[in-house]
Amino acid sequence: MSYDPDNIFTKIIAGDIPSHKVYEDDVCISIMDIMPEAPGHVLVVPKAGSRNLLDADPEALAAVIQRVQKIGNAVKKAMNADGILLRQSSEESAGQTVYHLHFHLIPCHENVKRKEHVSGTTANEELAANCEKIK
Ligand code: 5GP
Repeated sequence: MSYDPDNIFTKIIAGDIPSHKVYEDDVCISIMDIMPEAPGHVLVVPKAGSRNLLDADPEALAAVIQRVQKIGNAVKKAMNADGILLRQSSEESAGQTVYHLHFHLIPCHENVKRKEHVSGTTANEELAANCEKIK
């Protein structure tokens, strides 16, 4: 199982496919997930290419997890969440559907059920509004 750079997230990083971008620096981009499991669900996508966690460069990982924490705090505050679910799926059996490493940050509220993984898109206007709040 090797990394194939021809994937949707490299195209988003390159700006060839549009996204609602929450954050960008030399290490990563963070974008709104188009099929959010809860309002404010974002992805943190390292610019360094790897298939998933298992083949990632440890130094690149160390840098990106700092961004995951920073963006996680921004998501929690912006969405007024009680907590944050951090998820990273490596390989199909674990639920991975896009084969470029990424971390999900999903705002959680007490007693509010989240949607199923990749179970339906959300209106562009709602994604844009939540993106602005988190930014
Ligand atoms: P995985 O299933 O690999 O853990 O997560 C992939 C995520 O990428 C899914 O939650 C899915 O909704 C999201 N996704 C798939 N295609 C696109 C896209 O074109 N743009 C954005 N922003 N998210 C995407």
